[in-house]
Amino acid sequence: MTAAERIMHRCDELAAVSALEDGILRAYLTEEHRRHNDLAAQWMEQAGRRAATSYWVWQDAAGNQCLRIEGREPGLPGLLIASHLDTVPHAGRYDGILGVLAGIEIADRLGPHAAKLPFALEVAAFADEEGTRFGATLLGSRALAGSWDPDWLALTDSDGISMEQAFRDFGLDPARIGEAARRPEQLVGYLEAHIEQGPYLEAAGRALGVVTSIAGARRFHITVHGEARHAGGTPYERRQDALVGASQAVLDIERIGRERQAVATVGQMNAHPGAVNVVPGRADFSLDVRAETDVLRDQAWDAIEAALAASCTQRSLSFEVEEIHSAPTVFADGQLMNAVAAGIRATGDPEPMPLFSRAGHDAMAVAEIAPVGMLFTRCHDGISHHPDESITVDDVAYTLDALEQAVWHLAEHSGQTGEPR
Ligand SMILES: [Zn+2]
Repeated sequence: MTAAERIMHRCDELAAVSALEDGILRAYLTEEHRRHNDLAAQWMEQAGRRAATSYWVWQDAAGNQCLRIEGREPGLPGLLIASHLDTVPHAGRYDGILGVLAGIEIADRLGPHAAKLPFALEVAAFADEEGTRFGATLLGSRALAGSWDPDWLALTDSDGISMEQAFRDFGLDPARIGEAARRPEQLVGYLEAHIEQGPYLEAAGRALGVVTSIAGARRFHITVHGEARHAGGTPYERRQDALVGASQAVLDIERIGRERQAVATVGQMNAHPGAVNVVPGRADFSLDVRAETDVLRDQAWDAIEAALAASCTQRSLSFEVEEIHSAPTVFADGQLMNAVAAGIRATGDPEPMPLFSRAGHDAMAVAEIAPVGMLFTRCHDGISHHPDESITVDDVAYTLDALEQAVWHLAEHSGQTGEPR
């Protein structure tokens, strides 16, 4: 079995670890989390044993599964290769998983050669990126980056179980989460391989791409107020239909997104009181806005807000906006981008395709304490967060080759005398 085949096989093994009978779901601090950590620990242990230097396999205080292999001397800062093993409900089998398994495979492949590296090699399987159980996202990588918010412990899941209780049930002490935090001087950099979750590599006929930046989303909860009235008795001239106003906003949002090189999405909408024979007096909807730069994204939002104001005025409606999330665009580090590009060139692609990520990734959290770089792997039709997520074994092989070469490129260019293989 080749290394790429082994990754595909492990992806299938992880896919069988699920809280659902008819799909994949692995959420934070659950039995599935424990089982995927057990598998990762076993694979990390195998990889660690191939090293000629000391290695450690451990679960950190936030439930992330970790591996560290010492470099040419003990105690050097680490190059961390990581991604996540948790999923959305009815997920595919590669989002996050590919990056974790590729990290483990790189550790395995380097084997005794890890002792030549001018840094330690570290791998992490983050336990929560998607925020499926508690709503807040990137919990694993934020714990590692030291940006954990203690208020999150009060968040509850759909069964009313608080995160604090979930920590205890899992066997972790919520008071010790801070111990998962790493300091900037402990890391030389962070590398993450991830499926693209978009169609651009496939359209360009490329297996791999080098990520330039990760778009930061702004998310809003918007409420349109009108007046609830009898559906039969209220003529159009008298209506203040909040749902019609919100629907107009959805069309404006799509138009503005297209016009301004942003992507703006309404993913949730509710009408109140929600009866078949009542004109909706209130409509609530979500909005997620992203673009390549924060300036483009903010301009798109300004235009959306202006359009909303204009259409509400015209329909005698009012609206309220609550911004529930805002993250700045995170840029990949120049040296790590060079390393990823050099890795991709080594696979036979002379001009690696640059891409910005429209989806959020663990790299965004880790960027607070380390320079980050990401490599995208082609996925069929850009489908992700769906059972049809699909990658090829050949592309996985390219991913491994590129990552391994990226590690050696960093070793050679890290300013220390790393001896290339
Ligand atoms: Zn992911």
